[in-house]
Amino acid sequence: MSAAKLQAPRGTQDVLPEDAAARTAVERAARAVLEPAGYRRIETPTFEQTELFSRGVGASTDIVQKEMFTFRDQGDRSMTLRPEGTAPVVRAYLEHGMHKEPQPVRLWYLSSFFRQEKPQKGRFRQFWQVGAEAIGAADPAVDAELVVLLRELLESLEVRQVQLRINSLGTPESRAVYREELTRHLRAHGDRLSDDVRSRIELNPLRAFDSDHAGTQEVMASAPLLQDFVSDEDRDHFAEVRALLDAAGVPYEIDPTLVRGLDYYTRTIFEFTSGELGAQSAVGGGGRYDGLVEQLGGPATPGCGWAAGIERMLLAAGARPEPEPVVDLFVAWEPEARRTAFEVLTEARRAGLGAQMDLAGRSRKGQVKQAARLGARYVAFVGADGCALQDTEAGEQEDVDPAAVVARVINGRHLA
Ligand code: AMP
Repeated sequence: MSAAKLQAPRGTQDVLPEDAAARTAVERAARAVLEPAGYRRIETPTFEQTELFSRGVGASTDIVQKEMFTFRDQGDRSMTLRPEGTAPVVRAYLEHGMHKEPQPVRLWYLSSFFRQEKPQKGRFRQFWQVGAEAIGAADPAVDAELVVLLRELLESLEVRQVQLRINSLGTPESRAVYREELTRHLRAHGDRLSDDVRSRIELNPLRAFDSDHAGTQEVMASAPLLQDFVSDEDRDHFAEVRALLDAAGVPYEIDPTLVRGLDYYTRTIFEFTSGELGAQSAVGGGGRYDGLVEQLGGPATPGCGWAAGIERMLLAAGARPEPEPVVDLFVAWEPEARRTAFEVLTEARRAGLGAQMDLAGRSRKGQVKQAARLGARYVAFVGADGCALQDTEAGEQEDVDPAAVVARVINGRHLA
């Protein structure tokens, strides 16, 4: 009896070699957009103390309530695979004293995240995000800068049918007053709400705007709107963010029902969607989180950021053919010439050439075929008594000392 085959866990996926080039392109694009704007790369650990997320993301959120991969370490401490990037980055900002550096501190990351969600197209249990955070400045130009940069990234990746929605959530104080009004409205129409929304009226009434349940949507159509509750300062801040986006020529739609699944947001929030994506249409989003640093034990410090899903950006960008790696030289060899062949191969790679050598025990004919399959420009035939170098483009072959093969290939490349 043979052993049962193992599979990757549900909702996870392997990044295969044919997928890797597209991901490298995302990383390159993110760096090209973010680093000239002053964002520096940061990577935090894959797991953190669970408390970071229950305090940072918010105990009432879906993420903390039901989506975290949490486990106990050998010291019986509760740990969690990171479900998002902002709370860890803020923790690192405080832990490394970055609040003492000139503000804002701009950081970006490209990492994998973990949420125990129901897997479907574009929704995984391990997924990758590019994120950017600007911590330490409340100026509306920070919010606008971040929106513009995410749009640039989506554009440079040719993500199709992109739309931007923005909203302002006000401060925790104005939101508290609004929350009460909204809770009252939801309670008054409790019989028409989905069970899920009804059971969480007290815990998180704002999430009712996100529901796809028909009855709930009808109730929400007449719900009070947050914008009627925000303070003058918040209203002015949002007006300035909009004016800056207008000045930058970035089209957007104001969506007073836009909410996001994390508790830490204040003032501006935004979300980019793509019409290419179907049900899971969000490609990236974020917002301002002026209370988060303090919530995690630091001084009162404003912050703003976003995260964009790499799988979703690639899905919405459509297939883009990636060039195959170039093989400059294929080293074919006879059994007694392995060492010489290996020397030629190593020297070629050290010289920066794309070089391969047969490792499957192919016959001479088989090696020629393999070289052609790889599109090798040169093929060296290394035998016991010498070496022949074939230029496959010119269709020419000449005898060459094995030690001279690499120089010949390099010269030939220059001539080509
Ligand atoms: P969030 O951290 O929830 O604001 O998500 C930011 C972005 O990450 C979303 O717009 C998606 O593109 C992506 N994302 C979030 N959750 C998932 C998931 N479970 N699978 C794949 N991508 C995700």
